[in-house]
Amino acid sequence: MSEPNNWLKARILAILRGPHVARIEFWLEGLHISGAGLRQVAAAIEQGRIGVAFTCPQQIRAEDAGAYDRRTDDLLIRDGPEMDYSIVHESVHAMVDLQSAKNTLELSDEAAAYIAEVVYRRYRDPQWRAPGGDDIFLAAAAIVNGFGRSVPRLTWSEYAPLREAIRRVYYPRTPRDQVWLRPSGADGVPARRLHGPIGCR
Ligand SMILES: [Zn+2]
Repeated sequence: MSEPNNWLKARILAILRGPHVARIEFWLEGLHISGAGLRQVAAAIEQGRIGVAFTCPQQIRAEDAGAYDRRTDDLLIRDGPEMDYSIVHESVHAMVDLQSAKNTLELSDEAAAYIAEVVYRRYRDPQWRAPGGDDIFLAAAAIVNGFGRSVPRLTWSEYAPLREAIRRVYYPRTPRDQVWLRPSGADGVPARRLHGPIGCR
């Protein structure tokens, strides 16, 4: 692993095992998002089961700060000011994959990642507000604003508006019924990594 990617790996492990991530906990119906689950992602990275790398510009969409590739089990992060938030967001996708949460829908997986990211942003900066005009962050922040002291258990109708915001932004030209109930594709993470290093080639 290259020097920058070693640095990134250390950063990811520190964030996933840090105090803010430890406090993340909520349910999206059957899907449990928690600091403990995210620490399992850290363990899988340490075991070499999940790869980490800085992205090359051509690897991910210009508007994305990172990506998790379910087929190769790689966490790809863009260097920059959004890096830490992207690490939390993409690690939620890795957690869903690690748990082989096959019943999780793609838009729900995405909703979980955005909610966890907003919770994390609030722990880092209690003054954080969703950027005006960003429908996804506004919908995620509206959900997090409703969180009380007990562990939140979101029902379908509570997070459907966030799913809808994500659908409109991610798939503006795809017929709704083609994406609304599409599975996430979470298929587990093998105990041993079968392919070589990833990242910028
Ligand atoms: Zn995502």
